[in-house]
Amino acid sequence: MDGLHMVGIEHAYGNTNVLNNVSLTVPAGELVCLLGPSGCGKTTLLRIAGGMEKLQAGTVTIDEEIVAEPGHQLPPEDRKIGYMFQDYALFPHLTIIDNVTFGLFRMDKAEAVKRAMEMLDLVGMAQHAAKHPHMLSGGQQQRIALARALAPKPRLVLLDEPFSGLDTNMRAKIREETLMILKHTNVATMMVTHDPEEAMFMADRIKVMGDNGKVLQSGRPADIYYKPVDEYVARLFGPMNHIDGIVHNGAIGSSFGDIKTDDAENGQAVRLLIRPEGVVLHDGKGTDGGTPVDVVSAHLLGDSSIVRCSLREGANKGAEFQVRIAGAFDAAAMGQVHAHVDPRHTFVYPHDKQ
Ligand code: ADP
Repeated sequence: MDGLHMVGIEHAYGNTNVLNNVSLTVPAGELVCLLGPSGCGKTTLLRIAGGMEKLQAGTVTIDEEIVAEPGHQLPPEDRKIGYMFQDYALFPHLTIIDNVTFGLFRMDKAEAVKRAMEMLDLVGMAQHAAKHPHMLSGGQQQRIALARALAPKPRLVLLDEPFSGLDTNMRAKIREETLMILKHTNVATMMVTHDPEEAMFMADRIKVMGDNGKVLQSGRPADIYYKPVDEYVARLFGPMNHIDGIVHNGAIGSSFGDIKTDDAENGQAVRLLIRPEGVVLHDGKGTDGGTPVDVVSAHLLGDSSIVRCSLREGANKGAEFQVRIAGAFDAAAMGQVHAHVDPRHTFVYPHDKQ
């Protein structure tokens, strides 16, 4: 099958192991994201795929050609890979067209210029061909970097935190354009990011990497978000409310009522995690009255608000939890605030420490 295959990759810097038996596949036409905290080995894995880091154990195959195995390493320039990094890495002294033709040294000059202009056209930058990089904005430079990466018709594209140098609006725009162009060219793409939202937006599949140099979970974005395999993966997407308890009759007792679970046995000690967007605030007038709460603070973030609440009564009176709601929060309009939990945003994991 066309695309990238990495099997049994191990890597150590000195005595420190950073990758432990990592395997992955990036089929042609798909974008796979390596997601994880800084220092977990994402860039090392990407550099091994590209040949910038010497392989220590395992094999790397691109379009069914073995490009690295112990004792055999194809140099980066022979792997037919396109790269795009955070700092664009355009040559400042070269014009835009010369930057894009740079990697086309195997073509004759006229053919290289034709190909480069096609690529600049694809990224909407053909009219800037004669300029130098410093005359362009960060977003425009990133488009040029994409054109340059795709010009030699690579078998694989490697993206390392490619949008993190851009401001919020430009980042959203450029990543959407980049995704469309990558899909249009049907190339296999591996991207490294520590930003879960970016991974959710871009990826066909996400590989979550942990501090132990292992892949903790692989799946489609919705699997990672709605079915995280453990607390670590669940918490990648931001703060969580948690309640520790024991399962009785297939449910965990909480201040929000009994929360059913199929993920633990009766009598088992567990931790229940509730995403802030999984708590619903309402006026308590519906059929299910919900749990009465006091609002401690509310902060509008833009398209959503974070509301901190505390339990008004019961055994855990005063305990605080976080809620995320769409738009602004108008406590006065709601009167007495009540909360209930949407079970789609709850997760239950075994938990020893009570
Ligand atoms: P990530 O991309 O997930 O931030 P890296 O692959 O860059 O992680 O790094 C993984 C670990 O290996 C980090 O602890 C980092 O400090 C270490 N590391 C990376 N490159 C080198 C190197 N050339 N020499 C020694 N240690 C390195």
